[in-house]
Amino acid sequence: MKLTVVGSGDAFGSGGRLQTCYHVTLPGEEVLIDCGATAVIGMQRLGLDPDRVSTIFISHLHGDHFGGLVWWLLYAHYVTKRTAPLTITGPAGIAERFAAAAEALFPGSAKTERRFEMRFLEYAEATPLTVGSVRVTPFEVSHPSGAPPYALRLESGGKILSFSGDTEWVESLLPTAKGADLFIAECFSFDVQVGYHMTWRNIEKNLDRLGAKRVMLTHMSDAMLAQRGEVRDPRVLLAEDGMTLDI
Ligand SMILES: [Zn+2]
Ligand SMILES: [Zn+2]
Repeated sequence: MKLTVVGSGDAFGSGGRLQTCYHVTLPGEEVLIDCGATAVIGMQRLGLDPDRVSTIFISHLHGDHFGGLVWWLLYAHYVTKRTAPLTITGPAGIAERFAAAAEALFPGSAKTERRFEMRFLEYAEATPLTVGSVRVTPFEVSHPSGAPPYALRLESGGKILSFSGDTEWVESLLPTAKGADLFIAECFSFDVQVGYHMTWRNIEKNLDRLGAKRVMLTHMSDAMLAQRGEVRDPRVLLAEDGMTLDI
């Protein structure tokens, strides 16, 4: 399993980082976790081919996590004339939210006849869903976004990659991260609680309970980025756009 960080930023462009998007190469397939509005830009920058991606796993329905599907559709339709099917997994109502976003930004785009099938699958709490070689288990977190938000646990080929999505600290992160080879954790701030997001102090305090082999901090605000040098636990690494990791 090879992970490429396409975007490690928040919704505000902090640090000049692109919005959330992780690319995962598995034997015989490529998948994405989240697809922020800048996903196609980030993939083009890194020489990753959006057409090779067969599945996109979406954590929650905020624009910096699913908005890129709109540009994905344009790219697939007009640039590569994609014919391969694309599966998108996400919270209940994702197909409708995608269609509404596409229509708002590019009127007519959601209704244009496609050469490829876009298949939407909805999560059910703590119920594994198998797509290709990946078994994804969603755990509901706390982050109001018009539909239930989830942390995701992806298992494939004996490896476990998990992701907090956006959330304040919740205990459902424990089954998400347990035994994971890598847990990607949003870490919006260092120690000041801001909205429905996590702080480094929340994560640090729970590292043993989370039980992941490695933890990667992401979705950092400017304030968190300024203090990231103070994160020194050997299990923890800091995401950067373009970074790759063998899992
Ligand atoms: Zn976000
Ligand atoms: Zn969010």
